[in-house]
Amino acid sequence: MQHIPSALEITQDIVRIDTRNPPGRELECAEYLGTLLSDAGIKVDAYEFSKDRTSLVARLKSKGTKPPICFGGHIDVVPLGTKEWSVDPFGAEIIDGKVYGRGTTDMKAGIAASVHAALTLAPEVAKGESDIVLAICAGEETGCEGSFYLSEVGALGEAGAVIICEPTSNYPMLGHKGALWLRVETKGITAHGSMPQEGENAIYKAARSVSKLEDFDFNIAPHELLGSATLNVGMITGGQNLNSVPDHSDFTIDIRTLPDQDRDGLLEGIKSYLGKENDVQSLVNVSGVHTSQSHPWVKDVFGVMGNILKEEILPRGAPYFTDASALTPAYGNPPTIILGPGEMEMAHQTDEYCPIAHIEQASEIYQQLARRWCEI
Ligand SMILES: [Zn+2]
Repeated sequence: MQHIPSALEITQDIVRIDTRNPPGRELECAEYLGTLLSDAGIKVDAYEFSKDRTSLVARLKSKGTKPPICFGGHIDVVPLGTKEWSVDPFGAEIIDGKVYGRGTTDMKAGIAASVHAALTLAPEVAKGESDIVLAICAGEETGCEGSFYLSEVGALGEAGAVIICEPTSNYPMLGHKGALWLRVETKGITAHGSMPQEGENAIYKAARSVSKLEDFDFNIAPHELLGSATLNVGMITGGQNLNSVPDHSDFTIDIRTLPDQDRDGLLEGIKSYLGKENDVQSLVNVSGVHTSQSHPWVKDVFGVMGNILKEEILPRGAPYFTDASALTPAYGNPPTIILGPGEMEMAHQTDEYCPIAHIEQASEIYQQLARRWCEI
C-alpha cells in the first residue's frame, strides 16, 4: 500500500509552492495534489479556467447511488502584504506546535486535511453507499473563479452535502454572506486649476456619491444568523495633479449580502441611487449560503462535533465568503457546512500560521463525517 503522508506534511509541501493570487498559477500545487490522489487510485480531473489556473475534481467511487459528500476549498493564497514577515512565508516552518506560512490557515491546511482524509478512506469507499468528491479550486480569493468555472463546464457532478474546509478552528459554521463588489467611475472635464469654472470636477462627483452611500439603506431585515447586509467604500482614486480639474475618479464598493438577497436587483438599485453621473461595474457577484440548523444532516454533524469539541454546538456563521458561493448553488443547494483548521483571524495576516493540532483534528473530523455519510 502507498505510504500516506501526514496532513501536516501535505500542508508543508503545498505551502512551499507559491500560489499567490494575483497572478495565481495554481498548476504546480494542483499537480502535486493530483499525483498524490491518483497514486492512491482516486480518479482526478484537472480544469484550467485560464493558463496554469488549475482546479481539480477528485472522486472516490462507491458502489452506492446516494449523492456524494463534497469537500471544497481553494489552493490560491493572498499576497504577502507590505509588512515584513519574521518567518519565510513559503518555508512552512514549525515553531511551538504551529506551522507558519502564507496560506497555512487560508486554506492549505484545510485542503491538506481533506486530501489526507481522502487518501486514508480510499481503500474503503468502494463498499460505501456514496462517493466522496473533492473540489480543489483555483482563484477563490479574487471571486471564486475556479469554482464557478467547475460549475460552468459541468465538472462537479452532484452532491448531497458540502463541507467547505475554510478556517473555523474546526467549528461547524452554517453559512456566510455573499458579496457584491463594484467599481464606480465618474468622469469630468479637465481645465487649469486656476480656472475651475472651465472644467467639470470628477472628484466632486465621486465625493457626492461616496457620501450618499454612507446613508444607503438596504431595506431588508437582518438575517437570523448572519446579521445585516453591509457596505464599505474601500478605495478611491482620482485626479492627475494638484493644479488641474480632475476629469476622472473611481472608487470601489464592497457589499456583503444576505443569502436570500436579490443581488442583481441590488446592483440596479445602487445604479439608480447614485444616478447617471456614475458608471457602475460589477467586479464580483457571489451568493451567500445558509443551511438550517434543523436539517437532519446538520443535526448529525452537530452531534459528532459536540463530542469532538466537547462543547455544545450553537448555530454560527462565518464572516467571509467561500467557494460555497459557487459550489452550493451548482449542486442545487444541498446542506453546506464550513469547517476547517486554523483560526479565522489568522487569514490574510502577516506571519500567518495554523496550529498543527487543528490540522490533524480536521482530517479526523472529515474522515468521521465522510464515513457516516457514505455508511462505511
Ligand atoms: Zn479562503
